[in-house]
Amino acid sequence: MRRKATSWSPILAYGVSLTGTERWSAAPRTSVQLLGAFLSWRGAPDGCRCRQSGSKNVRWLKASVRQRHQPSGAEARPAQPLVITTPLFYVNAAPHMGSAYPTMACDALARYHRMQGRAVRFITGTDEHGEKIAQAAAAAGRTPQEHCDLVSGEFRALWAKLNISYDRFIRTTSANHAAMVMTFMERVLQRGDIYKASYEGLYCTGCEEYKDPKELVEDTQCPLHLKRCEQRAEENYFFRLSRYQAQVEALLANDDFMRPAERRNEVLSWVREGLRDFSVSRAKNPWGIPMPNDASQTIYVWFDALLGYLTALFDEDEPPQLEKVEERGWPAHVHVLGKDITRFHACYWPAMLHSVGLNAPQQLFSHGFLTKDGMKMGKSLGNTLDPHALVDEFNADAVRYYFLRGIEFGRDGDFSRDRFIQIVNAELANSVGNLLNRTLNLLKRHNNLSLPVVAPSAHPLADLTRTCTAEAAAAYEKLDFSGAAEALMRIASEANSFIDHEAPWTKLRNPETKSEAFPVLAVILEAVRVLGVALWPLIPETSERMLRALCYPVAGPGEVASTAAAFVPSWHDTKWNARRDLLQPGVRFRTPEPVFPRLE
Ligand SMILES: [Zn+2]
Repeated sequence: MRRKATSWSPILAYGVSLTGTERWSAAPRTSVQLLGAFLSWRGAPDGCRCRQSGSKNVRWLKASVRQRHQPSGAEARPAQPLVITTPLFYVNAAPHMGSAYPTMACDALARYHRMQGRAVRFITGTDEHGEKIAQAAAAAGRTPQEHCDLVSGEFRALWAKLNISYDRFIRTTSANHAAMVMTFMERVLQRGDIYKASYEGLYCTGCEEYKDPKELVEDTQCPLHLKRCEQRAEENYFFRLSRYQAQVEALLANDDFMRPAERRNEVLSWVREGLRDFSVSRAKNPWGIPMPNDASQTIYVWFDALLGYLTALFDEDEPPQLEKVEERGWPAHVHVLGKDITRFHACYWPAMLHSVGLNAPQQLFSHGFLTKDGMKMGKSLGNTLDPHALVDEFNADAVRYYFLRGIEFGRDGDFSRDRFIQIVNAELANSVGNLLNRTLNLLKRHNNLSLPVVAPSAHPLADLTRTCTAEAAAAYEKLDFSGAAEALMRIASEANSFIDHEAPWTKLRNPETKSEAFPVLAVILEAVRVLGVALWPLIPETSERMLRALCYPVAGPGEVASTAAAFVPSWHDTKWNARRDLLQPGVRFRTPEPVFPRLE
């Protein structure tokens, strides 16, 4: 039986009729049950009947809700790490700013949680299967594996350059991953969620999916790739996504599941139109993992890639075990992803997990698109932004700071060279770097780099620091990196006003007033120390230089390691005078070196 595909994801006659039956017979009962559980459970006392339901579906939903209402995974389950993931990047082309951007954000988040003493597993990696990869490799005269090795290596090189402190880099062409995919697919097959059917439709190899004719632009072109879609007909295996309509809807009805809210609403209204089964195998693509039940077909690249998040819960040298993902930190604390791939993560992925009895991730955070000088970036437009070149010309912290501070995470953002230089110079070079430098230089000139007093406990800057670091912590928790930086810059700005007002340089020149200058300098250095600690998630190298200048035992130039094993300041150190063990009366500082170079 053959029918035209009527959606971006193919639908078959058989699938549709089956879906229909399920929805009209089984689904209403299930969804009422689920909704009831969802609505009543949060407020229900222990022992209430809705808490004791034996239904696996309800248990799954309850667990999903429960996890999202825990303050944080780490406090609740100390042994299990907080799992933070970037998307697994497709290796059809070299990494660009759009791949560096979410990775810098995840790095800042992972660093923040580590500062809070939480165990973190920060996962990133590359998605390496699919027809598009095979085509890109052939065009470059390489085998697909050679192509993947090369491009995946470029991602790791860029991550090293940007000081990305990942715990695990997963490659979907690794043997461990293939084992995970096979086990998972076998489980889904056993569950009865896979069936075979034929279809015909318009396929975009760029998207690796069948397109809904309604989405196409002139002459059957894919709206994203502006390339004609191919008419295809083949027999494939399908996943019964439609069976999970109620669960996916309930998940998306929860505010915390997906941010920002407007993107969640977009996906929710799409889901409410009815989820359709999607094809999870390809007959004509040899570059993939074979279906466990039929070696003539390979597993659809998206189905394969999403499972990389599970494989990555295990180290490279350990065989991944589906039974152990929960003790390794599943469900993930947050998946950070681009808004173009939210449907895969918000609909397919939770349903796939549910099929094998696992919980959905706790949160999806979808970031916006980047433009350059107000224009969409692209090779054809000749205005790409090469992250390697940007780091080489300036430095990693300047790049990290601009993208995390200058753009509200979750919204679209623009890069312009002028704005980049202006923000970084004003805040990092002047407000923070220069403040530390001129203070230490005053001590060098007038008191042999020694500070005879510590900062007073009661001081307006101490109060401001308390307020602003609390705001920054709350902002980091919700991935509001620009909000965190903004709160911290208020400390820097007030500290600059304070030193300008007190003019300690005048007092230092006169032996009679010299001693009055020291408490002022102590207050400034204490404020800078707090900033050095609190800015670490955003600008680790600069932060480490600042803390090194303030007597922290941090590795010197050339010794700054970029992995999780390196120096991690404690968030507790953001408290005023928290490190009197380091900044004692009479402490002598190192010869000051500029902590942040002015960009030209
Ligand atoms: Zn496309």
